[in-house]
Amino acid sequence: MKYPKHIDLDLSSKCNIRCRFCHLTFFSPKEITEFTKENIKKVEPLFKNLESITLFSKYEPLTCKDFIDIFKIIDSYNIESYFSTNGTLLKEDIANTIVGKLKYLTISITGFTKETYIKNMGVDRLETVKKNISYLNKLKKEKNTKYPILRISTVGLLDAIHELKLAIDFAKEIEAEEGIQVTSFKSFSSELNHLMPLNDKQYFTKTTDEAIEYAKKQNIKFILQSGSIVENQQKTEELGHKHCNMPWYRLSIQPNGDVYPCPVSNKTIGNIFSSPIYDIWKSNEMEKFRNGVNNLEEMNEDCKNCTHCRHRSITNINANDYSSKEKYIMGMKRK
Ligand code: SF4
Ligand code: SF4
Repeated sequence: MKYPKHIDLDLSSKCNIRCRFCHLTFFSPKEITEFTKENIKKVEPLFKNLESITLFSKYEPLTCKDFIDIFKIIDSYNIESYFSTNGTLLKEDIANTIVGKLKYLTISITGFTKETYIKNMGVDRLETVKKNISYLNKLKKEKNTKYPILRISTVGLLDAIHELKLAIDFAKEIEAEEGIQVTSFKSFSSELNHLMPLNDKQYFTKTTDEAIEYAKKQNIKFILQSGSIVENQQKTEELGHKHCNMPWYRLSIQPNGDVYPCPVSNKTIGNIFSSPIYDIWKSNEMEKFRNGVNNLEEMNEDCKNCTHCRHRSITNINANDYSSKEKYIMGMKRK
């Protein structure tokens, strides 16, 4: 492909909270930084050919101080935009900027009672998030728009999935058209290892099956991001991950300028502050990476242990247990 059709742009490598399950609780990013309205110009040449853009991949995009200015630049192109946020910083100025323009917005919540929210997200802000969503929804009605289409994302920890029905009720209450997605949990600490679904496949399957039934009755969409355990095993059997075409149409760019061939890669293929972005897209490094994605004989190390929710095996211990690893994706190091 001549140009990437999609980019994953981490606007910031920070987060304002620390969830107990998050990589940021255990690992430090290579650099703690953010994009600005000035240096985003290095990425701008891509915008005219993009179909879609994701404004986050591993951190909280609303910690980027220039979020509003950068969003306005992106919105001046014909690009479908999406991001995920914990919702705590989704204040009125942000809602005023994105309503009617952003296509999809995911709010990440694990814990649907005051107590379980604090336990998982580390702060007492469930009510703040509800208030922020309520303002956003009010604005959508006033502007007579369905955008951004909402979705709730929740992490499928074995000690959190008993709340999936509450999550479905929550999605219904806030009129989340895209419903609920359950992300499969990777462990970054030996103290959390027992909460990975592969430790109790039967309970995970039973609980998620019940949630799927409940969601159907409530007319709420419900997605297990990695598929059911059985589906996931079938699709990852041959390669160790699902067949993947991401590096053929998308690029991942960090706020320190590093470019990666996919959002869960470890090996940078260039930096936008030292090379033009199109040269990086067409580089030998990128081509070499592509050749090792779905190739059993010469597979990239990243792809052997793919950590991408939609592609990895959820029963491969190497792709789910990071409790003793010193490094994590994109140059993160254990604290
Ligand atoms: S809100 Fe997201 S980025 Fe922030 S600590 Fe929680 S999981 Fe990590
Ligand atoms: S690491 Fe995973 S998501 Fe990335 S290119 Fe390889 S298989 Fe695809």
